[in-house]
Amino acid sequence: AVEFDGVSKWYGNFQVLRDINLSIPQGSRIVLCGPSGSGKSTLIRCINQLERYQQGKIIVDGIHVTESHRSLDSIRREVGMVFQQFALFPHLTVLENCMLAPIHVRKMSAKDARALAIEHLEKVRITNQAEKYPSQLSGGQQQRAAIARALCVRPKIMLFDEPTSALDPEMVKEVLDAMVALAADGMTMVCVTHEMGFARRVADRVVFMDGGQIVEAAPPGEFFDSPKNPRAKSFLGQIL
Ligand code: ATP
Ligand code: MG
Repeated sequence: AVEFDGVSKWYGNFQVLRDINLSIPQGSRIVLCGPSGSGKSTLIRCINQLERYQQGKIIVDGIHVTESHRSLDSIRREVGMVFQQFALFPHLTVLENCMLAPIHVRKMSAKDARALAIEHLEKVRITNQAEKYPSQLSGGQQQRAAIARALCVRPKIMLFDEPTSALDPEMVKEVLDAMVALAADGMTMVCVTHEMGFARRVADRVVFMDGGQIVEAAPPGEFFDSPKNPRAKSFLGQIL
């Protein structure tokens, strides 16, 4: 579970997050959307301490996200993240990419790490690419490998920041399918995405941000069919 309690953040004088209150229960799935610059990436990057915040409190699975190293170590073990740009290590094969964290973070043996990696590569359906280097894979395959790699840390929460927006259209589905499967497994997920079909299918709640604030949060049916906030309405008008 993730709990935001009155979180605010500034870049210099610019307030990028304004009094964020958000409760993400274990096993739930949030889709975060909103105009460019509204603070979506900043919000999710605060969860795994890629960004710090100045006011309020974020609690991840009982761990207060502070600036301490202890908090950082435990958070990185609990929270997996997948970005728009697939951040695989280019000099390692897909399999080696997946084995890295289990060996170094979870202190697993190479044998166990390999078995775990193969299990997750199967889940995202790219076991046959395991021995290749990232540059030898399609964008969709790389992104699925990135998901598998994140899962190998055995996180309790997965964060996605526009995981399909750098992909060619024909590869979007295979990545969304992997995310749908993950949701079906009961993973707690926070997804920044404008894939509204995915949101309808998978989200418990759609959270709409504008100007650093959460201005609407509702189940997808309600959000798409009868958005209340005027900015959410016009946003949906543009993307649907
Ligand atoms: P997009 O849909 O384009 O990805 P976003 O909703 O993810 O947008 P953020 O990346 O969270 O938006 O940025 C929110 C605001 O904070 C923007 O106005 C951005 O210019 C500003 N910002 C982001 N990073 C920094 C930084 N390191 N220093 C100063 N301002 C920043
Ligand atoms: Mg962003």
